[in-house]
This record gives sequence, structure tokens and C-alpha cells, in this order.
Amino acid sequence: MHHIFTVDLEDWYCTRAVGSLLHRSDWKSCESRVRIGTRRILELLERKGIEGTFFVLGYIAEREPELIREIVDRGHEIATHGYAHRSLEEMFPEEFRDDLVHSIDLITSITGKNVCGFRAPNFSLTEKTAPWAIEIIQDCDLLYDSSVFPTTIHPAHHFSEESPIIHQFANGLIEAPVSCVDLCGLRLPATGGAYFRHAPFWLSAALIDWCERQGIPALFYIHPWELDTEQPRLRLPILQRIRQYRGIESLYEKLDRLTDRFQFTSLRHLFSSLDRNGTCSVRQG
Ligand SMILES: [Zn+2]
Repeated sequence: MHHIFTVDLEDWYCTRAVGSLLHRSDWKSCESRVRIGTRRILELLERKGIEGTFFVLGYIAEREPELIREIVDRGHEIATHGYAHRSLEEMFPEEFRDDLVHSIDLITSITGKNVCGFRAPNFSLTEKTAPWAIEIIQDCDLLYDSSVFPTTIHPAHHFSEESPIIHQFANGLIEAPVSCVDLCGLRLPATGGAYFRHAPFWLSAALIDWCERQGIPALFYIHPWELDTEQPRLRLPILQRIRQYRGIESLYEKLDRLTDRFQFTSLRHLFSSLDRNGTCSVRQG
């Protein structure tokens, strides 16, 4: 079965972990290194014949338009990660609408293609923000969202009651949540980002195997900065240091093994194959 390969396209200075030392007003003076990790991902996907979904941050699209065009030219799906990497709970509804519309307009003007999907920074579509945010996402003509992280082990996500399986909200918006596995009364993240970096490979593979046995595609995500071993090393507090830097030296090799062992595709490809069974569809840009 095909699992889902997604990338949150942002640079090393955009993360929550470095946010205690770098503010958004500092971003323009930070070295742009997003091409380094992105090209490693693109090279790997090309070698394995995988089409991925890239959730592009509008700020990065503005700074690196050629890179965004390159991703499209290599046959991948472009979706949006918002403009300024602000979590939904930091914004009023109208601020979120402006941020989202701005990102969609920017990405569309660079690629000439429709944007169909959105992922909120820090997976911040939660019990608190979903009641107003999913209406705005649908108003922006997006067909799917991939912002719910229904785990019980991360205090910021607060949406553990939400289904960990692809489903539709009451307003019709499709939700592709990060895959989680129910084990010993906990709902554990199956894949992605820091969890994949910190977990031993056998555990990540076993959790994806579990999804496969349930007939559920696992949704994987990664960031370009996680493959940039030369990124600037800030003097972060210990927890943030682990979150940002631990495991990046061996991540490419783990990714290589993961994509050898499992098959992956993009969200638009998954949805268009579901469409053939009459379930849901995403237009092809
Ligand atoms: Zn992000």
C-alpha cells in the first residue's frame, strides 16, 4: 500500500525550537539554507520514484521562488503552510484568513497552479482553533487540511479525540491527520519529523507496519532543515537543542531505509485514487 510523504518547507530559523532566540523580525538577516535540505529530499524522492506533497511556507516561497518552481518541475504537489509560520492559537480568525490568503496568492503566482491543501504551523488545528479555522480553510477554496496531530503525548496538540484516520469534517473539508497508533492507553505518533529522528528505525517501521495491517496509509512528514547538518548551531536550552539538532546526522540514511521498505505518494495522488472509488477528490493543480 502507498503511505503519504509530506514535507513542511521552512528554513532552520522558522522553528518553534529556535523561537526563544530568533524572532520573525530577525528572519531576513538569517542565512537562507532551505535549498540544501530540499535538494537532498528531492534527490531521494527522484531516486525512489516518489511524488511528495510540499507544504510551502509563504515567506520561503517569497525568498526562494526558483526553488518552489523546481519542486513543481520535478512533479511534486505544492500545498501551503501559511505565510508567517504563526500557530493558529496566536491569531484572531481574521489574521489567520489574511495569512492564509496571502500564502495562497504568493504560491499560485509563483507556480501558476491551484493550491488544494493546508498544514497549520505546529499542527495547531486543535479543539480550540478548529471551530473557526476549518470554515476559513474551506472559504479559501482548499479541499483538504493536514493540520491535526491527534496524539495524547504532546501537550500542545489538544486534539486527541479527533480521528487519526483520513476523514471529513462536518463542513466537508477533508482532514489528513498525522498517523497515530493506539497502544497501552496512549495514542502514539506513528511517523514524522522529530519522532522519526529520535525513535530507533525498527520502532518507526513497526508503527508503519501496524498502520499497514489496519489498511491505513501512514502520513509521514519531514523538514528540509532536519537534513542540513551544517545549519547554524544556536546556544539553545537543552530541550530545544535536542528537538532541533538530535539525530540530523543519521536522518538521510534512515530516510533512505524507510523509502526502500515502504511505498509513498503525495496527498493529491492518494485523493485522486480514492476518487476512482467515489470517495473524494483533489484537483491536479
Ligand atoms: Zn512548520
